Amino acid sequence: MRLPLCFAVVFIFAASAPNLRSQELITSPPPLIKPNALMGTTASSDSATVAASSRDEHRFWDRKNDWLFAGVAAGRTLDYFSTLNFRRRGHQEVFLTNDIVDNHAGFAVIEAASTGASVGASYIFHHYRHHKLERWTSIVHIGLATSGAVRNYSLKTVH
Ligand SMILES: [Zn+2]
Repeated sequence: MRLPLCFAVVFIFAASAPNLRSQELITSPPPLIKPNALMGTTASSDSATVAASSRDEHRFWDRKNDWLFAGVAAGRTLDYFSTLNFRRRGHQEVFLTNDIVDNHAGFAVIEAASTGASVGASYIFHHYRHHKLERWTSIVHIGLATSGAVRNYSLKTVH
């Protein structure tokens, strides 16, 4: 079983839509490190403005995202191998066609593109300061890919 990207993206957006509004209302705690401390400058009169504008920001490629994106890639890899296993055992692909899945190189490219699109969606959320949605994009993707892989492996062999 393959979960095409459009389903995943629609699911992520549908699941997160109610949170979009509520997240804007949440006031975040002040940053642990003031931006001025990072830049090596002394506190100035506009430091409060800088601190407010960069509140709860983080580098996109921070440690958390590194792990989450690695998790997404691992989930897609699991999906890839579980789908091939499922095809070998005589099952029919539902979300994509059998021809697409049976072209292993092409299918691997689709899995890689799904990972890239997920990272891209996270980046868009990060850019618009929806940092929770940014993280949840990867978390939901990992959950869907992994549960799909478990399901693929647990289906009985067709004789
Ligand atoms: Zn972010």
